[in-house]
Amino acid sequence: MHALTPAQLLEVWELGMRQANDQKALMLLRAALPEETWASLAQCSIGRRNALLLSVREGLFGSQFIGTARCPACGEGLELTFRTEDIRAAPTMKVAEPLTLEASDYQVSFRLPTSEDLALMRGYEDAEVVARLLLARCLLSARRYGEETSVEALPAEIVEAVEETMGQADPQANIRLSLTCPGCGHHWLAGFDILTYVWKELDAWARRVLREVHYLASAYGWSETDNLNMRPWRRQIYLEMIGR
Ligand SMILES: [Zn+2]
Repeated sequence: MHALTPAQLLEVWELGMRQANDQKALMLLRAALPEETWASLAQCSIGRRNALLLSVREGLFGSQFIGTARCPACGEGLELTFRTEDIRAAPTMKVAEPLTLEASDYQVSFRLPTSEDLALMRGYEDAEVVARLLLARCLLSARRYGEETSVEALPAEIVEAVEETMGQADPQANIRLSLTCPGCGHHWLAGFDILTYVWKELDAWARRVLREVHYLASAYGWSETDNLNMRPWRRQIYLEMIGR
């Protein structure tokens, strides 16, 4: 993995800011993994993409996560602290695709959803519609008693079984935190979106760095490049000298 300079990271942030989430993820990964092509990253399964994002995030901002959640039973707010290893799925063997499922007279063959698939889901708000469209993209063949059938004709239990198999084959795609409410003792699994978290963190970092560059440029007249090339601790000392 390539260590990104502050200037490179700012460029990812600036170019990614107005892009959709799936593109933001690819832009960050492409910068950190220049040996990978855009197409190879776009065709990674979502779990694999999330695993790469976790590693990139660890290199940039460390392995500790801080967040909040709300108990669905009593409404109490929780502060959460967890680490990369708490949410990293156990490494699995590379999944042999296509995946297959045989249940209740159906034989279904499918592949895992990728960033490329997610990019085509933009503009659809309804989660159920997105799930159906994704399934249609990832379904390679579906047969009943050997006869070809369509996604629309698949019964709900087969659709659920396919989605469950996808989840098991690509465990990092849906990161879940096991939480217990200190107020009422309720246990639940909360989803954790690594991409939203990392982008928010990158956004806060970029705005802070730009503010620091502004203070130092105003005080000393140094260029943006000079400021960005300075090691953070030295920049910190200069900031202290000008009372920031
Ligand atoms: Zn509670």
